[in-house]
Parts: sequence; C-alpha cells; structure tokens
Amino acid sequence: MVKKTLGYVELEWTCPQCGTRNPGPQKACSSCGAAQPKKVEFHQAAEEELITDQAEIAQAKAGPDVHCAFCGARNPAGTVKCTQCGADLSAATARESGGVMGAHREGPAEQIACPQCGTLNEGTAVRCARCNASLPRAGAPPRPSARRGLEAQSKEKPARKIGLFGIVGIGVIALIAIVACVLIITTLLPSKEIQGQVMSVSWTRSIEIEELRDVTREDWRDEIPADASVGTCTDKLHHTQDQPAANAREVCGTPYTVDKGTGHGEVVQDCQYEVYADWCKYTAREWKQVDTVTLSGQDYSPRWPAPAFGAQQREGDQRQSYKVVFETEEKNYTYETSDPDEYSQYQVGSRWILKVTALGGVRSAEPAR
Ligand SMILES: [Zn+2]
Ligand SMILES: [Zn+2]
Ligand SMILES: [Zn+2]
Repeated sequence: MVKKTLGYVELEWTCPQCGTRNPGPQKACSSCGAAQPKKVEFHQAAEEELITDQAEIAQAKAGPDVHCAFCGARNPAGTVKCTQCGADLSAATARESGGVMGAHREGPAEQIACPQCGTLNEGTAVRCARCNASLPRAGAPPRPSARRGLEAQSKEKPARKIGLFGIVGIGVIALIAIVACVLIITTLLPSKEIQGQVMSVSWTRSIEIEELRDVTREDWRDEIPADASVGTCTDKLHHTQDQPAANAREVCGTPYTVDKGTGHGEVVQDCQYEVYADWCKYTAREWKQVDTVTLSGQDYSPRWPAPAFGAQQREGDQRQSYKVVFETEEKNYTYETSDPDEYSQYQVGSRWILKVTALGGVRSAEPAR
C-alpha cells in the first residue's frame, strides 16, 4: 500500500478554560489567552481546506511541536529556547503525532446550532453570530440510544454464523464416522478361508486411440504455448500490488487526516495498483482420447488388439484385466487381477484355498494341496 499525501490542513483545539475553539497553529486561546496545555489534543476542523501557503506547509512537515519542561508553553520543533520563558528546550517533550483523526472533511461544514440561543451558525464559526457564545465542534458522537441499536445489530450476525458452522461441523463428523465404520468392517472383521475350484476364466485387453485435435482454451497471453494460435483477448485484472506500474490502475481509499503534532493535519490516502494484462482465447493442438479398442477371450493366450490408426492418431493407454470365477460350496466368487502370469495359473478345474473378506471379495488364492 502506498500512502499518498494530498496536502495539509489546519486542525483545531478547544480551550479547556473557556471552551473556545482555536486554530491548531495558534498556541494560546484567542478568547481567554490561556496557553494550550500538553494534554489538550487537536481535533479536526468542521471544514478542512488544503493549505496553499508554502511556509505553513513547511511548518506542518517540520515535526511535532514541543512543550517547555518549565512553563509548559508550546514551541515549534527545532526551537532552542522557549519563546515564553527562555528556558532551554532540550528537555522539552514533543506532542503526540501520527494518530489517524478521521476521514478528511472535504465538503462544506454543516451548520451548528448555538447551545445558548439555538441560532444556526456557519459550520466553521467559532462564536454565535447572535449571542457570541462559544460554539461546540461539529460531528458530536451519536446519541446513546442510537449506539445501543447498532450494538444489538452487530451482536445478531455472529450468532447466525456459528449456527451455520455448527451444521457443517455435524456433517463432517458424521462423514468421518461413516468412513471409520467401513474401515473397521473391512479390516478388523476376520476374512475366512474356503475351498474353491476354478469354473471359468476370461481376459480383456484394451488400447486407447488418441488423436491430435484443436482445443480452445483461455490463459494470460504470456502463458500461452508458443505454437498455439491466439484468438481474441480482453483486458483483465491480473493482480493487485503495492507499487505503481506503467499499465496499472490506481485504486485509492477514502482520504483521512493524520495529526502532525504542529496544529496541522496531513491528508493522506492509501493506494494500491491494479495491474491489467491480456487474457486470451487460443487454439492449440492436443492429444485427445477418441476411442478404445478392446479384445477379450476365455482362453489362456490373451492378445492385444491391433487398432488401425488414422492420420494424426497414436496409441494411448493400455489396460488389461483378468477374471477368474471360483465355485465353492456356498456360492461363486469372482477374482480379478491385472497380472497375466498370475492369471495363467488358474487352470479350469484346479482347486484353490480362497481368502474371502467380510464384504465377499476374494483377497488372495493359494493352491490347495
Ligand atoms: Zn480560552
Ligand atoms: Zn517555557
Ligand atoms: Zn447564540
């Protein structure tokens, strides 16, 4: 994130003695003459106008003002001797700075009602035009009743979220329980041994046929294979970064005011940069499975099919499967393997000891002696 400075504005402080609002750079109250104490913070003016005077901007950037350790008077940063009492300022304490004060108040300030006589005054006015009373600063905190309403609303939402998570959690637990049950049944329950005789055998061998075909895909322009033909492209958000770039779009947040400690505020904006790139459709030639040729038989000499390949075609994956049907006293069991050497041992009529699982599958077979 890049912090962009939009400019500097004057802050205000409210005199704790008489309640008068004073311009930030002013060190003593314009109404009663009291000096601004260290504990009295600056606040935003009702209307923040960017300062154009270069000297004042330089002052705003100079660093926070300091308070004399002896008389408490505010002095600009870099001052050697207190302007009020002449004391050495090396032991002076700097005002706090860097705090975010709130959103930059760009527009004209709302009118303020005089607390004494009720007259509406200009938003920037310090004193009532009719009775001369000190006017409070604009943007007072919301009334307690309104705040309570907000709290009640914000409390409701998390409760609903927990409810949803609860349902998902129960589902996940149930699924784990089912999987665990299946595992227990298949592994812990003992498999039994029974005698069986080979009744019949069969084999299946298949070869996939692949063909070079045009496929249309989408990707970033620089990710597209070199031999592909590029179609239409559109500008699309590639990523967001903190650093500015030539082809990037700047996206900035709401400007806000930061306390400089000098009676001025710095109006800043946090910006990010959206980098756009070409997102394109392209056509490339890729091997795709278009057919499977299968050969099967019930003898002991399995053969691979010999497909006729067309132009732009090639052999793909091969698969082989061998099935043996055992006849036992209770029922017939089918055993399957992909090993042709093992298959050749199951001669029709030969007798075997079968290990049968609880779910009825044949786990292994050994010759019966
Ligand atoms: Zn005052
Ligand atoms: Zn002093
Ligand atoms: Zn008034």
